Amino acid sequence: MKNAVIGFPRVGKLRELKFASEKYFRGEIDQNTLEETSKELRKEHWQWQKQAGIDFISSNDFSYYDGVLDTAVLLNAVPGVYRDLDVSNLDRYFAMARGYQGKAGDVRALAMKKWFNTNYHYIVPEIEDDTKISLNGEKAVAEFEEAKALGIQTKPVFTGAFTFLKLAKFTGKKTICDFVEDTIASYVQLLERFASLGAEWIQFDEPYLVKDLTKEDIELFEKIYQAILSKKGSVKVLLQTYFGDIRDCYENVTALAFDGIGLDFLEGRKTLQLIDEKGFPKDKVLFAGLVNGKNIWKCDYKKVLNSLEEIRNKTGISEDNLVLSTSCSLLHVPYTLSNETALKEEVSKHFAFALEKLLELKELKELAAKGGICEYEKDPVFVENQKAFSGERLYQDQGVKDRVKALKDSDFVRLPKRSERLKLQEEVFGFPLLPTTTIGSFPQTDAVKKNRASFRKGEIDKVAYDNQVFAFIEECIRKQEQIGIDVLVHGEYERNDMVEFFGENLEGYVFTQKAWVQSYGTRCVKPPIIFGDVKRKAPITVEYSKFAQSLTKKPVKGMLTGPVTILNWSFPREDISLKEMAFQIGIAIREEVLDLENAGIRIIQIDEAALKEKLPIRKSDWYSEYLDWAIPAFRLCHSGVKSDTQIHTHMCYSEFNEIIRDIDNMDADVISFEASRSKLHILDAIKESQFETEVGPGVYDIHSPRVPSVQEIVDALKTMLDRIAPEKLWVNPDCGLKTRGIPETDASLMNLVEAAKIVRRSL
Ligand code: GLN
Ligand code: ZN
Repeated sequence: MKNAVIGFPRVGKLRELKFASEKYFRGEIDQNTLEETSKELRKEHWQWQKQAGIDFISSNDFSYYDGVLDTAVLLNAVPGVYRDLDVSNLDRYFAMARGYQGKAGDVRALAMKKWFNTNYHYIVPEIEDDTKISLNGEKAVAEFEEAKALGIQTKPVFTGAFTFLKLAKFTGKKTICDFVEDTIASYVQLLERFASLGAEWIQFDEPYLVKDLTKEDIELFEKIYQAILSKKGSVKVLLQTYFGDIRDCYENVTALAFDGIGLDFLEGRKTLQLIDEKGFPKDKVLFAGLVNGKNIWKCDYKKVLNSLEEIRNKTGISEDNLVLSTSCSLLHVPYTLSNETALKEEVSKHFAFALEKLLELKELKELAAKGGICEYEKDPVFVENQKAFSGERLYQDQGVKDRVKALKDSDFVRLPKRSERLKLQEEVFGFPLLPTTTIGSFPQTDAVKKNRASFRKGEIDKVAYDNQVFAFIEECIRKQEQIGIDVLVHGEYERNDMVEFFGENLEGYVFTQKAWVQSYGTRCVKPPIIFGDVKRKAPITVEYSKFAQSLTKKPVKGMLTGPVTILNWSFPREDISLKEMAFQIGIAIREEVLDLENAGIRIIQIDEAALKEKLPIRKSDWYSEYLDWAIPAFRLCHSGVKSDTQIHTHMCYSEFNEIIRDIDNMDADVISFEASRSKLHILDAIKESQFETEVGPGVYDIHSPRVPSVQEIVDALKTMLDRIAPEKLWVNPDCGLKTRGIPETDASLMNLVEAAKIVRRSL
């Protein structure tokens, strides 16, 4: 049996790519230097895999920003505004990713969306009526050759044609159908190209297949691949799926002339059943995704070896046709445990990051080669692995488990009902129409980061650290007053990350030092790990919020992260349910909410930035597997507050049209969300659903350094007012400002306040 890796993380063990790219953006290094860094990284990544004895190593899984964007460029799906930009190809690419404001012009970034059920974000390709899909660019070829020169034969990886077309946005009158032929032709050319280069395999990623598919989707998929595969030539084609099972199209997929099919046996709950009931073709290679590409827990060898056995029995597949693979790209896990010098052995013995997963793939391959259980059971490698799965786990707390059990229905209901609350709140707060606010964080300047770093390194004590934070808060409050914002924030200088900060103040969590995972472009996150039962140790944010409020007459929002987001942006346990974890965290946040209220904080924002993130990919699972506990977990946090305490929430990305009733049902008083990048589509849904929560659709995009003009914001507000009553509309950026610099933030917020005033006068 061979083994394979679907894709490898690309930012570097110590985020080298992030730092190099950011230097490039700031003009501190040139394109050559950036390219050199990337080349070094690719080399390292391939060599690790080679050393671990991985048989199928990917190339073109590297990206300067995002793989879907790479595919768009490869297929010449470059909208006119970027084509017309007189800059280098690399800068054009970055303009599509992050927007461009400079000598050559002023263009927005393409939209960004969550990559299926992960915290990774891809760039949404835009296809215009005059887009001519054709093969363009040498990135994949160059990388394939680069690996070859190192003596490593790779399988180049691409977003598959079907997934690409399904994820793209068609901005004109034309639709997918108008571009299918050219897309097919381009992929055929791609195969020819790699055949001539001597590639043995090529991998097409088609995660879209794990979604609920319509008859038309399946027809489109078949049409595309019948055509591509009929001209296949000498390169073998691996159709790779992940993040679920392909129950809607399993028979269609297996009937096509793919040489290999990659299936996810972990998130794909029905995968095993599918191969059992419908069989697996004898002439194809099955890439069995059994080593988890998304979690950080050590792989239970017994389970994997049993599954392999089961797959063999059910399919009668030959040894040669079975490949042990990761369940998805390793992009979603951090690099290596060897960076984690501070973890206790009793904790770290449970973990495996990307490099350790390579070792797992190797060991599993070797164990599997021994034959049945009698052969490997006594193997020291196997015995060692099983130690992590026996015995008492650390950090268990019976009190926490009991509190969750004792929750009653009334713990999830806030009274009086929202319409009454909002009336009362209007009186006590007396806001103008279109009140202005921000989402919470302000720029994390070098001084802010230095303060945190000094504290971490023990160079300053907690008192000195907090004094600095208080100074930042004071400056932030003064600035917001000057700019004329209505509802202030304290700036979140005490946290670098909205989840890590809370995790650090909750029992049951463990932390890593360098376990970064790419979220989008150069942005990485370091998810904390839920290791045991979660509870609050002491008040977390109260002192900071209280101090901020003491500086001003305007209300300052208390700023918390909600339980679903804390859970979704952590690596969860695998030994208890997500619901149980969400309720444990919900109880902790509820305690914090009540403490803030007691300390005189009148508006509390509970961010659920990541609520949509883990919504099951298939609709049929939405409620039973997710919303039925996720929405209650949020309500649990705020159901205990007084009627005149205003509860805000914030969600990143507005792709929640389909669950708009559920969002309303979170029963917050105000919600803010991203709207500018996806061009305000959500507004219609808000109108149609008679959304009760007051709304602040972001009026500009904070993911780009571009400063929006007053006029742009005025226009955005006017569009919003077409669908939202003025009494219900708030004015705010689309997310927190922490990744931005001070000059653009100040300029943008001044324009925002000015725009709100202009529109207010017209009402
Ligand atoms: N309150 C957080 C901030 O402003 C929200 C961040 C987010 O939504 N990702 O940074
Ligand atoms: Zn956000």
